[in-house]
Amino acid sequence: MPIPADLLAAARADADRTVDLRRRLHRHPEIGLQLPRTQATVADELAALPVELSAGTSTTSLVGVLRGARPGPTYLLRADMDALPVQEDTGLPFTSEVPGAMHACGHDLHVAMLLGAARLLAERRDEIAGQVVLMLQPGEEGFHGARYMLEEGLLDAVPEAPVAGAFALHVFANQPSGVVSVRPGPMMAAADHWEVTVRGRGGHASMPHAAADPVPVAAEIVLALQSMVTRRVPVFDPAVVTVANLAAGSTDNVIPDTAYLQGTIRTLSPERRADVVASVRRVATHVAAAHGMEVGFVHREGYPVTTNDPGVAARVRELAGELLGRERSVAADEPLMGAEDFAYVLHRVPGAMAFLGACPPGADPATAAGNHSNLVVFDEAALPAGAALYAAMALDALA
Ligand SMILES: [Zn+2]
Repeated sequence: MPIPADLLAAARADADRTVDLRRRLHRHPEIGLQLPRTQATVADELAALPVELSAGTSTTSLVGVLRGARPGPTYLLRADMDALPVQEDTGLPFTSEVPGAMHACGHDLHVAMLLGAARLLAERRDEIAGQVVLMLQPGEEGFHGARYMLEEGLLDAVPEAPVAGAFALHVFANQPSGVVSVRPGPMMAAADHWEVTVRGRGGHASMPHAAADPVPVAAEIVLALQSMVTRRVPVFDPAVVTVANLAAGSTDNVIPDTAYLQGTIRTLSPERRADVVASVRRVATHVAAAHGMEVGFVHREGYPVTTNDPGVAARVRELAGELLGRERSVAADEPLMGAEDFAYVLHRVPGAMAFLGACPPGADPATAAGNHSNLVVFDEAALPAGAALYAAMALDALA
């Protein structure tokens, strides 16, 4: 279906409301799975629309259902609502009023764009054959908010027509403003957390032979992990292993009992993921064994790979091109090694996550403060493009 020619103009005409909601959310960021104030603000906004709203039971999620004029399939649009434990230093007039919390990943923009799309869709219910599910999730930043929503029946929000497709946008402050990018297949990585405790035997720093010093063993493990990645991982199915935290000892004349390392593993396929997790454990265990020591190993699964359906990714390219102009719809050359909770939804239904650039005017995307920075600033001029693209994806799927 050709998308309505006036969709972007309508989103622009509505931009004041979108910006206003974004700024209200930005002033009052909340972190994690419990976002009562954010939930109340969003519910209030949706109350003015023909949307059936239900709240999560285990978290402060919200699910809205907007019904078209005729029956048909169900399409899901998602926005995440949570902020980060960052002290904001942007000096913006609507800067965070909550010490130690900031919408530093642009989730406030996601919510504002999704509600903008809901208003556009509410005005066009006659053109919709089916239902739009608005997924508003807490806890994207490592708290598995989407998984809780799936467990609570998100995909059956419309019992007679389970969700058949899904779409989400993510803004990035170091990509050109108003430019949409997407790719087929892996869009973002799987993330795994690991910890290694090397168990030695403490003693006097002057007599290492009488102790079992875990410090050089920890150092060997750090280097052996990097050799493992370059020698074992195929370059076209890549992995990142980072040791992000290394801790041992307390003073200059004591050999400590233990040394501690923790870090992350990022991969783009389930096979690579399983292999690298096993390899980190094996390398740490056997390097320590070579020195007569043992390790404790902890592995915690983060989000799986965010995988875009090739057909949906191609449709995003086409619709964004029609809506915003060909030069504003580009192929993402490579996946991002960050991870994304929306991965759980894309494991259940075909869909896509696309990126929307929001580099502020006058800044260079190459050097602008990026997402998660205490200084990150997003260009609000990109908001209408995002609202219109969300709406276009639903209108296209439910024509
Ligand atoms: Zn984010």
